Order: sequence, then structure tokens, then C-alpha cells
Amino acid sequence: MTNFLKQSVTEIRGIGEETAQSLAEMNIYHVEDLLFHLPYRYEDYRLRDLADVKHDEKITIQGKVHSEPSLTYYGRKRSRLILRLLVDRYLISVVLFNQPYLKNKITINETVTVSGKWDAHRQTLTANELKIGGTSNAQDFEPVYPVKGNMTVKGIRRCIYLAFKQFGQHVEETIPISLRQKYKLINRKDALRFIHYPKNGEELKQARRRLVYEEFLLFQLKMQALRKMERENSAGIRQEFSSERVTGFINHLPFPLTNAQNRVVNEILSDLESPYRMNRLLQGDVGSGKTAVAAICLFASVTAGYQGALMVPTEILAGQHAESLRNLFEPVGVRCELLTSSIKGKRRKEILSQLKSGEIDILIGTHALIQDEVEFKQLGLVITDEQHRFGVEQRRILREKGESPDVLFMTATPIPRTLAITAFGEMDVSIIDEMPAGRKTIETYWVKPEMMDRVLGFIEKELQKCHQAYVICPLIEESDKLDVQNAIDVHSSLVHYFQDRFKIGLMHGRLPADEKDEVMEAFSENKFHVLVSTTVVEVGVNVPNATLMVIYDAERFGLSQLHQLRGRVGRGSEQSYCILLADPKSETGKERMKIMTETNDGFVLSERDLELRGPGDFFGKKQSGIPEFKIADMVHDFAALETARQDATILVESSYFWEAEEYTPLRDYLTSTGVLKGEKLD
Ligand code: ADP
Ligand code: MG
Repeated sequence: MTNFLKQSVTEIRGIGEETAQSLAEMNIYHVEDLLFHLPYRYEDYRLRDLADVKHDEKITIQGKVHSEPSLTYYGRKRSRLILRLLVDRYLISVVLFNQPYLKNKITINETVTVSGKWDAHRQTLTANELKIGGTSNAQDFEPVYPVKGNMTVKGIRRCIYLAFKQFGQHVEETIPISLRQKYKLINRKDALRFIHYPKNGEELKQARRRLVYEEFLLFQLKMQALRKMERENSAGIRQEFSSERVTGFINHLPFPLTNAQNRVVNEILSDLESPYRMNRLLQGDVGSGKTAVAAICLFASVTAGYQGALMVPTEILAGQHAESLRNLFEPVGVRCELLTSSIKGKRRKEILSQLKSGEIDILIGTHALIQDEVEFKQLGLVITDEQHRFGVEQRRILREKGESPDVLFMTATPIPRTLAITAFGEMDVSIIDEMPAGRKTIETYWVKPEMMDRVLGFIEKELQKCHQAYVICPLIEESDKLDVQNAIDVHSSLVHYFQDRFKIGLMHGRLPADEKDEVMEAFSENKFHVLVSTTVVEVGVNVPNATLMVIYDAERFGLSQLHQLRGRVGRGSEQSYCILLADPKSETGKERMKIMTETNDGFVLSERDLELRGPGDFFGKKQSGIPEFKIADMVHDFAALETARQDATILVESSYFWEAEEYTPLRDYLTSTGVLKGEKLD
């Protein structure tokens, strides 16, 4: 059988080499690429009720000509035609530029259809098009396609039309009838026709519905198939840990676990015990107690005779973790070491050799841990903290370390569920959705920079209670381009303000590592009362005596980051505060500040952040691994995403999916993406 849709676009009658060239520049090579080059919007020619139309909106309306049109010339070729039009109960003006010939075609009391931009203040439509008569069966929507290079919107519209005319009937169904019936989805051929050439809003809606589901289903099938393969084909290790010792360890922690901590510990431990390889994401808001969970699991792995690794994004954090874990592990005879890029020479060699011989049970460090020279004797469990800072590639290298260690990715940036099940769709997810008892919410205030005097007074009051404060600035040094408070300036002005009363420390990314450690240590020992810092303290840092977080130019940070920063306080039993110094100009900026003052719930914030910034910006940069969808929108079409995920999960686990005829197109899809290599999956 010829696969018509895989043929070159030059097979389309009316498309020659030259056009094909322009299409190639847009990555359109095959008939299929053209057919699935979808409109990103439509010119909307639906008739509108003027009462609903906003100022400056582009609209199409129908009305009766109420007066003789008047034509004025100015200049040789320029003209203006004005007529009065009765639209329902409104009498409006219509202006048409440079179409003088229309004057003789228009007669009083005749119906005309006009399209253009509505000026609500002057009750005038500046029209670019006037048709005599009503629009009965004319197209309501005209597709507008993305274009690049030489191609014009008109040009691509024509190409797609030609492709559709000749090959539209060869579009094949992918979704089996059972699922189509279940969700009342239209078939693929119709969906494609309607998405390009909708006659009305309903057709457009049905087409979108169908194509969105298809896109999500294919994506989720791929993720779920990957997950299944990972579980079944990559032999994991069965870590037979000692429940008794683990229980003992938990009982000796300085606090009882929360229910949520207990639940996720059990989820992780049963992964360790199973022959499958763990690939799990652990989400928990700042301060929800992920470190304790990590410690328990690392300990369990050690009792099973394996080594563990904990990887964090900054040296400061690595140092802190090493210290607090050592306190927990030393009494139970577990050896825990720190390895960062600043540990060099003899010491480094020593650690590396003890790691290889198995004398070290648990290694804590930064990215340095995944360098080649680091060899374990028997690595059983790898945990990364704040994983979204590690790239997808680093995630992969990490998973390839050792035999096939179980891997746990922890994140303190609550990831909206939509993103969690797309960017991390192939993983299992555990959530700590409960804070340790007795935590107070951090009171958050948004103040304008003019009120700095009062903020200084507030800082002073906190310091007098023997509490400590962070002051966060976006930049290190003064910059010509950006009018931002920088850490160095702020530091010197605070030193000046507080004189001998309080000690002010300075921390930023350009300090050498050992100096950073010194500053951090001094702050945690209360030798500095205030720490002025860039965002290097953002992640994980734990100084329970700090009760005040002041953030300069807060509008420059995303919600998730602000929440992270705020999470540096509120770690002890005292009431803590966060002050956002910001004068945002945009509405979303103001909105962000307001949300911060309204909630302490990281999951709520992350959902709002996603809404305000969109999926692409959520994680920042390109390391997010968030797939790009052609038609679906993760945020807007969230319900469909969830549904598709459930369906995909059920499908990959059922034997009929791998056998039945009606699933052939979906299985072919999996093969084409390389997830399946032709073989069956069960
Ligand atoms: P996260 O890493 O999730 O931000 P941490 O593990 O650093 O949170 O815990 C924050 C603080 O809460 C630490 O001081 C820790 O000792 C404490 N903590 C953790 N779990 C509990 C618990 N179940 N009850 C009381 N305090 C806890
Ligand atoms: Mg942490």
C-alpha cells in the first residue's frame, strides 16, 4: 500500500520545485507535514452583536444602509467613503478608505456585510471589506498559519488547500473506535478538515477536541511505554534492607514523621525492595521535611549492603547536608563523606579510593559526583535534591552510574501537576503534601521601595529579638543597564545604617567557595545578624534562627523562586516574615506580588506561576524537557491531559493493546518514535 501522506509535497498538483523549496525552509517536506501544519488562529468572520464588542476588536457585522454614502477625495489616489449603517438597533458609521468604486454599488436600505475594526468611542467601524448582501454560507473562519522565510500566509493557505483536496481522503484514523465513542470524538479525517476549514464554531471546537486528545494520548503512550520498559527491561536491584534497623533509625529521629513523610518513605522503600529500578520524583514544599525522608532511604540502602549518593546543586547546600546527615548517621555507624569540586589533591584521592573500596557508605556532593573519576563499589541509591536545576542530560548520566541504582529526584519547587506528568511523565511521583506540625505561616508584605525607612525599622526590631534576617538582591554589582539594587551596595548601606549595633554579612556567587562557606557558617552561628546575598542562598539553606526575609526588586523573580527564597525563613518555631520590595509596572507583576502575600502554599503558587508565565518559562531555559505540543495547551487542556494519561496507563498494561488490530496505528506510532524497537512489550 502506498503511503500517500509520506510522499513529497511535489507530488501535489500545483506545487512545484520552487514552492517545495520554500516549504522545506519551514521543515515541511511531506504531504503529511502540510496537512498537519495547523492554523494558530482564525480570522473570525462570524456576525457579532455590537453590544458584546470591545473597543478595537476586529469584527464582521451585517446591517442596512441608512444614508447615501459620502465620498471625499484627498490627494490623487486617496479617498474616504462614509456611510451610516443600521445594525439591529444601533446606528453606526462605517468608513472605507481608498475604495471609491463602492459608492455606486451601495443603495439605501440594502443589506451589506462589513468587516473591520470597531471604534467603540466613536461608534465607527473602519472597514477593509464590504460585501453587498448578507453572509449566509460564506466561511466564518479563515485559517491563519504560521509562516517563515519566503512563504506568505496566502501561499501556505493555498498549499494546504491543494494538499487537502488531493490527499485529504487518505488521512487515516489513529484512535480506536472504542475510545472515540467513549469521548464522542469525531474521526481524524473530519477533524483535519474542520481544523483547516471550519464552517462554524462548533466544528472548530469538535476538531480541536479530537486533535488535542490525540496529541496527548500519543505523548502519554510514549511516556507510559517508556516507563513500562524501564521497569521491566532494565534489571534493577532488589535491596533487601533491614526493616528493623530502619524502624530504629526513624524512632531515633528528633521528631515523629508526618503522615505524608511516612507514606512517601513507604513508597520509596517498596521501590528499593522491588526488583524494578526506581525512577521516582519526590515533591514537597520547602520545609516539608524531604531531607529526613532522603536520610531514611539512604540508610535503608546501606543496611541492604549498598552505597548511596546525594547530589545537590550548590556547594553551600552540599556542605549543609553533609553536616546534618553526619549527625544522623554517625551514631548508627554509617560513614558519610562530602565531595565537591573544591575538595582537591590528597583528600580527594583518599575519598575516591575509599568510595571504590566501599569504606564510604554515603557520598554527598554537587555535580562533581557524576564525573567519570567517581567510582562506587556498589551504588544502590542515588538521590538528587532540587532536581529541576539539573539538566535532562545530567539526569540521564546519573541513572547510568553504577549497576542500575534506584534513583529518586527530589524537588522543592512544587511542580504543577500538568508539568509533572508531562516533563516527568515517565516517572512515578510521590508528594509530601503536609507540613510538620506547629509551623506558622510566614507573614508576607508587599511594599513599595519608598517605604525603605520603615522596612529598616522592621529589620531592626527583629534583630533586637536576637533573630536574624536575609536581604536578597538580584545582582552582585551595579549595572549600567539595569536599575537594580545590588548586593554590594545594599551591604554597604546596611553596614552604614546599623553601624556597630549589628553585623552584616555579604554573600554572592563570585566569592570563592571557601569564603562562601565561611560567610554561611558565620551566619548560621549568628555571628552575622543580617546576610545580604544574591540568590545563591535560594536553595535548601537552613538557619532556623532567621525569621525575616527581605527581597529587593522582587518583581524580577518568578513566583516559584520567590517562594523558594521565602522558604529560607519560617524554619524555627518563631513567627517569620517576608517583605517584598517591589514596584512592578505590569499587571502580571502586581498580580504576582499580591498572590505571594495571599498564600504560603507552594502548589497553589506553582499553578498560578504556570498560568502567568506559561509552560516554557516555568523551569527557565531549555533544560526543562517540556515537550512542545502542536495544538494542545497543557494548561488550558489540562483535563484532556489527565484523561489521556489514565487511558495510556491502562492501555500499556493491557494485553489487548499489544495484540488487537484496532491498536495497530498506536503501536506503529510507538515504533516510529523509537520507544518500541519492533518487539512486543510484555
Ligand atoms: P525540605 O528539605 O523539604 O525543605 P527539611 O528536610 O530541610 O525540609 O526540613 C525542614 C526542617 O523541618 C528541618 O529543620 C527538619 O529538621 C524539620 N523537620 C523535618 N521533618 C519534621 C517532622 N516530621 N516534624 C518536625 N520537624 C521536622
Ligand atoms: Mg531540602
